[in-house]
Amino acid sequence: MVTKTEPTTEFVQELIPYSRRVFCNRNLRMDTIRYIGFDMDYSLALYKPAMEHLQAELVLNSMVDVLGYPRSILALKYDPQFAIRGLVVDTEHGNIFKMNAHRFVGMVWHGGGPLDKEIRRDIYTNRKIDLSDPGLMMVDTQFSLPEMHLYCQLVGLFDKQADNESKPTYDRLWRDLRGAMDVLHSDDSLKTIVRGNIPEYIYKDPDLPETLHRFRSAGKKLFLLTNSEPEYTRAVMTYLLDQGHPGYAKWEDYFDFIIASARKPGFFVGDTPFLHSNEDGSSQSIPVTQLRRGQIYTGGNLQELKQWTGMRGDEVLYVGDHLYGDILRSKRDTSWRTAMVVQELERELLGMQEHGSDLTELDRLESRLFQINLERAAHAIDGNRDRRLQGEARQLNQEVLRLEKQICVHFNHTWGMMVRDRAELSAFGAQMQDYACIYTSRVSNFRLYSPVWYFRSPRQRMPHEQLR
Ligand code: IMP
Ligand code: MG
Repeated sequence: MVTKTEPTTEFVQELIPYSRRVFCNRNLRMDTIRYIGFDMDYSLALYKPAMEHLQAELVLNSMVDVLGYPRSILALKYDPQFAIRGLVVDTEHGNIFKMNAHRFVGMVWHGGGPLDKEIRRDIYTNRKIDLSDPGLMMVDTQFSLPEMHLYCQLVGLFDKQADNESKPTYDRLWRDLRGAMDVLHSDDSLKTIVRGNIPEYIYKDPDLPETLHRFRSAGKKLFLLTNSEPEYTRAVMTYLLDQGHPGYAKWEDYFDFIIASARKPGFFVGDTPFLHSNEDGSSQSIPVTQLRRGQIYTGGNLQELKQWTGMRGDEVLYVGDHLYGDILRSKRDTSWRTAMVVQELERELLGMQEHGSDLTELDRLESRLFQINLERAAHAIDGNRDRRLQGEARQLNQEVLRLEKQICVHFNHTWGMMVRDRAELSAFGAQMQDYACIYTSRVSNFRLYSPVWYFRSPRQRMPHEQLR
């Protein structure tokens, strides 16, 4: 079932529009938060679709030039509307699929279209997905979205190739694509182009400087903790914050400490020393014994950070787009509170508002179906089959399916809503629920709330608590 937008006063809607709200899974009292740590990429810095196009173009070029793939792959057209976060790649069968919170498979895609129903049933029906299987990979960062669409297209292209000898296996194809993308991120070829024309690739949010300023004015200490390299970090943060607020001469002034090349999640469990980063991007190997304002450090680890600042875990809020990969995958519980930035949420929320009447109708149909099935159960005790109720249930089921399909198209044409898989939460929705104390579509949405606001979560209900 899809959550519908609740009615709210015009006054609230005007000051805190639905698409800009901060949503709460677990109560969070901002007055108890003394430190706010920010991730940079896809958190403070939200990328435009041009970034995905660039990644797609560069990775295909590199597959041709470095890995010897045929030039015909250069003709593939990248579609940034295709993939959503939370999809799983099955490298054994060359498929990608969406799964629900219970790890059962929903829509499956192969090459240029949905996987044949029979094949889908043979591979996935009644099978709970185990992500420790090396042939399965859940993709939960926006940086990885281009890989999903390109993989499908490459699979489609090679499926058509008659000569089996020279064809890469589905697994080889994925590993080559993944490996080539990995290199693009680390060899600076991608970032050199982005740095050369940042406005082409990154949105400049005019409200970001004010948002950070408001946190600082409320006495919070801010810090930056990014895996990006110092030079790239400097360039991006200068673009985002310099000349953004009269009280701050340069971007470094917003932060109490700045850590680049942090190697999250290793940062939380390792003992990599902090190093001093020079203006030219090189790092001095002199051991650092304290973190100074205005200075950029690289590497580092949580233990020393805690020692030097005296910060307690529960007074830190970490704001990031990839909470699982960045901090929670590390075995040691940091106990930092978490705010997740979900850039795609803004579009989903606008879609929910726009199609609110369809969502309300879906709720109505599902409630009715629930009641009818209850009545059928009551009749069936004596072995009676009520044909009228049976017919009505069938018809309602069809209507629910039809309406679900109609609604899906407004979100993502192929996959529907990012956080839902029909009546269940999607695996990605479950990640958001499990890992994010609060979540919102962009950092500047925080300026719509007091910096000491008490975010309260709505009451969670189990099926038996919905009296009907
Ligand atoms: P953060 O989100 O600010 O911590 O930075 C993420 C960093 O990870 C960026 O510098 C990205 O270029 C980098 N990154 C993202 N995906 C990959 C990958 O697949 N391989 C290597 N680096 C990546
Ligand atoms: Mg990030």
